[in-house]
Amino acid sequence: MRKCVGCRKVRPQPELMRLAAEGGKAVQGRSKPGRGCWLCRDERCAREALKRGEISRALRGKAEQPALASLLEWMALRSLDGDGGGGLKS
Ligand SMILES: [Zn+2]
Repeated sequence: MRKCVGCRKVRPQPELMRLAAEGGKAVQGRSKPGRGCWLCRDERCAREALKRGEISRALRGKAEQPALASLLEWMALRSLDGDGGGGLKS
């Protein structure tokens, strides 16, 4: 069980996506090394987390806040649970 940085609810991992810092940016990826944070696959949580700056805080300032559009794109990638495509270049 992990806690969403948007709504702060605790949910099972499959319902959340994981963000981690990589090269100064937040990227999506379950097996990315280092400190990560978790977010529901819900636009409201993405907006809330961005508004409060929770993502960069959770990543200890090692990553910039991702764009809302990137978060929404990652949420849509339901099957992308491995490390296959984390860090989409957009
Ligand atoms: Zn949430």
